[in-house]
Amino acid sequence: MLTISRSLFDKMTRHLEAGYPYEACGILIGEMDDPTHPNHRLVRDVILVANAWEAVSARESRRNRYLISPDEYVKADREASRRGLDIVGVFHSHPDHPSQPSEMDRRQAWPGISYLIVSVRGGKATTAQAWLLRNERDAFEEESLVISD
Ligand SMILES: [Zn+2]
Repeated sequence: MLTISRSLFDKMTRHLEAGYPYEACGILIGEMDDPTHPNHRLVRDVILVANAWEAVSARESRRNRYLISPDEYVKADREASRRGLDIVGVFHSHPDHPSQPSEMDRRQAWPGISYLIVSVRGGKATTAQAWLLRNERDAFEEESLVISD
């Protein structure tokens, strides 16, 4: 289960909408697996990141690819540690596509953190779904997403 407050969710979706028609992305930091709720990640902050994907062809552009640079991960990890938190997930948008992970998403993901995908259609965020990569890394499983007040 991934829990995020309404205000952080809105901060995230504004960033994703602003990035339209390209994919936009960022990092979720928060609390991982507290002992009373194993497998429950609580988002405490949202780190907005530029999509570092460089277009290599017309088909593989930032319209359907995203990349968070290693530097941004390191910075987010340091920021999380400083606040006694962890990186609990990564989020990105799917412009004019469903909020389901692509084959490319699967290949660049790893188990243990949440992948939050938001469908942005015509510049407006629509559906949001959270996904976990199976330990076998062969497929994602949907996890419940709770937007709290
Ligand atoms: Zn994707």
